[in-house]
Amino acid sequence: MSAGLKRKDPNQEVHEFDPNTNRKLRNWFVREKRDLPFRKNRTPYSTWVSEIMLQQTRVAAMLPLYEKFMNRFPNPVDLAAAEEEEVFRYWQGLGYYSRAKNLLAGVRKLVNEFDGEFPKTLDETLSLPGIGPYTARAILSISYNLPFAVLDGNAKRVLSRLVMFRESGPKADSTLQKIADSFLNQDFPGDHNEAVMELGARICIPKPLCTQCPLQTDCIAYQNGVQESIPETEKKKKEIPLNIRFYVLKGKQGILLIRYPERRFFKTIYSLPFSFEGQNPYEPDPVLHWDLSASDLGIKFKHTITHHKIQGFVSEIQLDTKVEKEILENFRKIRPSIETKYCEWKDLETEFPSSIARKIKQAFSKQEVILPGLEAKTSSSKRKSK
Ligand code: SF4
Repeated sequence: MSAGLKRKDPNQEVHEFDPNTNRKLRNWFVREKRDLPFRKNRTPYSTWVSEIMLQQTRVAAMLPLYEKFMNRFPNPVDLAAAEEEEVFRYWQGLGYYSRAKNLLAGVRKLVNEFDGEFPKTLDETLSLPGIGPYTARAILSISYNLPFAVLDGNAKRVLSRLVMFRESGPKADSTLQKIADSFLNQDFPGDHNEAVMELGARICIPKPLCTQCPLQTDCIAYQNGVQESIPETEKKKKEIPLNIRFYVLKGKQGILLIRYPERRFFKTIYSLPFSFEGQNPYEPDPVLHWDLSASDLGIKFKHTITHHKIQGFVSEIQLDTKVEKEILENFRKIRPSIETKYCEWKDLETEFPSSIARKIKQAFSKQEVILPGLEAKTSSSKRKSK
């Protein structure tokens, strides 16, 4: 048993940590913490934005976007007053637009129902859209120094190794939360939470750098030489290859973009209409099954969405007024929730705020395909009928 940790219960439901372990961890954090822009002014709002952006996005990728976002929306009132479309534009590059949508809904509720003052209780914080237990605990501890221990992927790995707790997955979470609660430094809960997560991000990584770890003498997994096998790895979701065709439908007002929440991808943002091709595990979406003789533009690009490995293709068609009317009526009949709008080719990346739009444009320019009626003359030799 480590000098820094006492286990009272063989099932590891209750843990008692030596205060020295906390002290060593906080000293390491104060000395070694990264100088990150979102650590400069820890208001609940700035912590909220940074925590939401960091979900599924790496720090290095998120930083420039965070700074741009905070310059444009420096406080909850500014964000609450913004149009969703503009917020999505500032979210471009982060993906998972439902996060931006929920953040906006949460901030609007904060302004309308809490007078813009971030609550100080867990229940009230959890009542804000888009804030789950992790984010609520992170905001309350980091910005108000309230005693709530957080549990993200990094914290789970550190805690599991410290106490040699092998289980992982959702079933292990309630035990891990108890371990996190008993490890919490009650005097500095914000620093403590950030320290645990930072240790997990930089030192206690999947192949841990134990020789650099301030908690080496407190860590039971290390003492037993089993740190690399803890926590047990969950089975990775199987990769799904998907062929997706995007359609550039050109009407009189520009390129048609659509949005509806029932579809598999881009539930919250406008996108080019798309359909799956070939074998795939999903039910066909009736909205995307129309009978159009679109032209394949002969370009391909690769993209990944969660565990989907996508091969993208692009077709285009010039719509006459009658066909356009029929398509729109058909869309609305099948999906009453559908929203449509038009954009110009040059604005595709801002109106369809996904890196897919950029990839499509890059593929176009590489192949020197010029869309008819949009920029200049048609490069028809590159097309074949689909
Ligand atoms: S000693 Fe190694 S396994 Fe244990 S907490 Fe430190 S880095 Fe992680």
